[in-house]
Amino acid sequence: MKGGGVALISGGSRGLGLAMVKSLLDQGYRVATFSRRPGEAIERLKEKYSERFSFFEGDMSDQASLGLLVKRVEKECGPIDVLINNAGIATDGVLATMQPDQIEQVIAVNLTGTLLLTRLVVRQMVVRSRGSIINISSIIGLRGYAGLAAYSATKAGLDGMTRGLARELGPRNIRVNSIAPGYLETEMTHGLGENQRSQIVRRTPLGRLGTPDDVVGSVHFLLSPAAGFITGQILTIDGGITC
Ligand code: NAP
Repeated sequence: MKGGGVALISGGSRGLGLAMVKSLLDQGYRVATFSRRPGEAIERLKEKYSERFSFFEGDMSDQASLGLLVKRVEKECGPIDVLINNAGIATDGVLATMQPDQIEQVIAVNLTGTLLLTRLVVRQMVVRSRGSIINISSIIGLRGYAGLAAYSATKAGLDGMTRGLARELGPRNIRVNSIAPGYLETEMTHGLGENQRSQIVRRTPLGRLGTPDDVVGSVHFLLSPAAGFITGQILTIDGGITC
């Protein structure tokens, strides 16, 4: 997919989502993103790229609102060429003591919301026979991590969605892939204790946590013609911790 298309990225207000928003803007895309709250970085981008950037307030777990959100994006920005399903939450806790509503919330945001958003976005992609979808899953969905069973289930679910949709949409010229990052320096990992952090660094061949910038290059690759025969795959970017 060449720069200049329309990209919708969920959860672009900070962290990895924000890095992908900035990077796709740099590459010439028309970018739309949404999250529950905008934040300062979004305000700056609105000023800098007033013609090519749109932020919408939206909540992945508010299922009824997603249809209106997609309609607003398509009306303001045009038909969507690229969908990056990035918004996610990690609810920490031993499964036996987690509250049912915590489990439901992590599934609602990470998995159900993503399926529903994708369902709405692919309709126009199918009509136009073009599109590329990237699901941001996680190595936690591939390998697991004590205290993150519900999160892990949602991320494994996203990889399943990637494979199923790749088969469903390949004949329509739409590619679907996952990127599974390892531990990244974002707000999501701020809660890691010193012991957990040093254990992760010790087990990572490249000897550090990743950054959002370590991931964006692979996003460009998967969207580019160089990846034109790649679909249904999971690209792991983790400094080697799962090797
Ligand atoms: P982050 O810094 O916590 O950012 C999460 C983003 O998702 C924010 O923009 C947040 O915005 C948005 N979001 C959260 N709940 C939402 C909701 N209900 N509706 C709409 N947007 C919502 O996390 P991150 O590290 O950048 O994570 C981005 C993605 O990478 C996630 O899917 C995460 O699971 C995945 N990942 C992260 C790591 C890591 O180590 N950090 C590793 C592997 C995979 P608001 O709060 O304003 O809604």
